Amino acid sequence: MFDRMMKIAVWTCLVAAVACIFLPRTAQTSAPMNAPFRIVIDPGHGGEDGGAVSRSGVRESEINLQIAKRTQALCGLMGIRASMTRSEDVSIHSEGAGSISEKKSSDLKNRVKIANNGDLLISIHQNHFSESKYSGAQVFYAPTLCSEELAKSVQKALAAVDPQNKRKAKKSAGVYLMEHVQAPAILVECGFLSNERETELLQQADYQKKLALAILVPVANSRKAVMGDHEV
Ligand SMILES: [Zn+2]
Repeated sequence: MFDRMMKIAVWTCLVAAVACIFLPRTAQTSAPMNAPFRIVIDPGHGGEDGGAVSRSGVRESEINLQIAKRTQALCGLMGIRASMTRSEDVSIHSEGAGSISEKKSSDLKNRVKIANNGDLLISIHQNHFSESKYSGAQVFYAPTLCSEELAKSVQKALAAVDPQNKRKAKKSAGVYLMEHVQAPAILVECGFLSNERETELLQQADYQKKLALAILVPVANSRKAVMGDHEV
């Protein structure tokens, strides 16, 4: 699925992966103590809110969902429990939300609720900028325990997917979900829909699988480091 260079780089970055993600739940989330460890994968946007759109009309919400589904499938292969905030092209606002802004606000609050029932949040997004020259995945982290370490590990793994990518993990600013989640949480901007070459890549199944792998392997490995080969 990926070349030798990527393999080496991914495994190298695993050394730096975080162990503290698996601290007792009471310190971090509302998930019951005896519940199995569970990741929440959040494909950003959906429904009326398509997020960023490329010049060719590719909607961020669709790419987010595709990569999220591949990440969830990989969780299945690795024996990690994972759920999604949405698994279709929909907004997850509550009934009664009328206007677009009410729906958006309700959708975000519901994402927070779902995220806080899990042990780790991975939110998937795509970037967009007014100039088309910028490209490269970047990981943002919540101000919660262990999020920064995890973001740095995932950022290193993403550099193996695209060696030209010199971006660094950064603290998230002004993102509602990141500001309200209690668990360790990262938001991965997988690439720029304002960049034509990257938009092409982001639609390819193989590239999406590489991204999913880069996002998930540091998580899986840090879990294993703590739990040994027992239940994950
Ligand atoms: Zn977005």
